[in-house]
Amino acid sequence: MSWKSLTSAALIASIAEDASLMSLAEAAAHLTARDIIIAEYGEPGAAYQRKYCEVWNVKKDFPWFPADKMLINKDFKKVLGVAFRKLQERGQHTEIKTFDGCYNHRLSVGLKVLSLHAWALAIDMNAKENPLKGAVRWSAGFLQTMRECGIYCGADWKRKDGMHFAMFNG
Ligand SMILES: [Zn+2]
Repeated sequence: MSWKSLTSAALIASIAEDASLMSLAEAAAHLTARDIIIAEYGEPGAAYQRKYCEVWNVKKDFPWFPADKMLINKDFKKVLGVAFRKLQERGQHTEIKTFDGCYNHRLSVGLKVLSLHAWALAIDMNAKENPLKGAVRWSAGFLQTMRECGIYCGADWKRKDGMHFAMFNG
């Protein structure tokens, strides 16, 4: 059964343990993102990684980045590279203090669906300052630059995930 045939309440309940923190639009966006990702890349795992991911030596391209390397989806790497360059041009890259993960095979915290991190299609940064369901401490300019580059910000969700930046809205 497709999630599109669920009632609003059932849709939210099907995805969120903390359903009250999510809007219907947000729950639908999360599931739509996963439908698109699976259609485009398939299920995550070793075969997916061999085909679509690479180890990015980030520091070689961006010496200011707080980690040497990360395993990342190649398409997301391109998008993130453009965003990092733009942040740098605008002097906003100095807001990035910690790298808190890209690839991680797990469910989204508090949700019953696979995290975009399972596909290495999302990156977490400054996690301590921007906790899940908590405060967002990025500047408005920083978030705007990320959006302009086509990156979805967890800071924009009703169920805030300020550390989270991704290639799809989920
Ligand atoms: Zn994340």
